[in-house]
Amino acid sequence: MPPLITVTHRRGIYLPEADLWLDPSFGVERAFISHAHSDHVARHQTTFCSELTLQLMRDRYGLKKNGLFHPLPMRTVHDWEGWQMRLLPAGHILGSAMLHLTRKSDGATLLYTGDYKLRHGLSSEKCEMRQADTLIMETTFGLPRFRMPPLSDVIAQLLAFVRETLAAGGTPMLLGYSLGKAQEILCALTDAGHPVMLHPSIWKMTESVKSLLGKLPDYRLFDEAEAAGHVLVFPPNVRQSPAFKNLASIRTAMFTGWALQPGARFRYQVDEIFPLSDHADYPELLESVEMVKPRRIYLVHGYTQEFAADLRARGHDAWTLGKDDQLELLFDAAAG
Ligand SMILES: [Zn+2]
Repeated sequence: MPPLITVTHRRGIYLPEADLWLDPSFGVERAFISHAHSDHVARHQTTFCSELTLQLMRDRYGLKKNGLFHPLPMRTVHDWEGWQMRLLPAGHILGSAMLHLTRKSDGATLLYTGDYKLRHGLSSEKCEMRQADTLIMETTFGLPRFRMPPLSDVIAQLLAFVRETLAAGGTPMLLGYSLGKAQEILCALTDAGHPVMLHPSIWKMTESVKSLLGKLPDYRLFDEAEAAGHVLVFPPNVRQSPAFKNLASIRTAMFTGWALQPGARFRYQVDEIFPLSDHADYPELLESVEMVKPRRIYLVHGYTQEFAADLRARGHDAWTLGKDDQLELLFDAAAG
């Protein structure tokens, strides 16, 4: 058996043999970016990412330079110095990719999941796992209580909320992150027949990926004067905007995996909260380990220590990478 690929963590995940950082939150020489939620991509000297992630980064942040980016197609082996790189769909949001590395000298392998989920969403590619000796995985929902209900159940709840709010003369406002959750919500509304208005940031991201989303409901840019009778899809942070003072009885619904925590509706200050997440839940985390069959597992984000102990009790060599801090947990709470 070849020795495992060395994984270190100081301020981020770093593979010293490849001199490669994985989703670093600060500027580095060479980085892999798993998906377009990162806003640090422009600072790296060399960036590997999926083709779609680069497109989304460009549309989102107006990146002008191209030369330092190495957009890679999914599933294709890319020879790079002493390594073979392969990107695999992560199922988190459009363009999200896992990185599979093979050390050419001895065939040792590593899989870095980035944010991912195994459940097949409406707006992203289905996740494709691959065997690896070392697995670095995110564990945002690494406690047994986090079991997401079937997507069809959540969609049924979403549509009932919209129907009932409109029937009562109200304006339903569905809250989801501009890239990922918002498109998932939009896809869920496709056959419901309600007119939809999108917040400008969501409209921009949706236009960017429209051709990849298949059938969508009729949607237009938010216009307060004509918003009555529409379903509004907005990012969570703008719902308190004074622009809505004149709109008749807005009812808000939040979509996040944290809906499974008691009291979530009050914490997010919304009328309803539904468990729609773009992260793997607890059963999926366990299933991923079964699929990858790693000799060693490193955990990042969320309940790393609890899930590492859980995996060790199941006979796996599993460890937390770096230290959890409150900032990380807060970020996950917003994005989950
Ligand atoms: Zn993400």
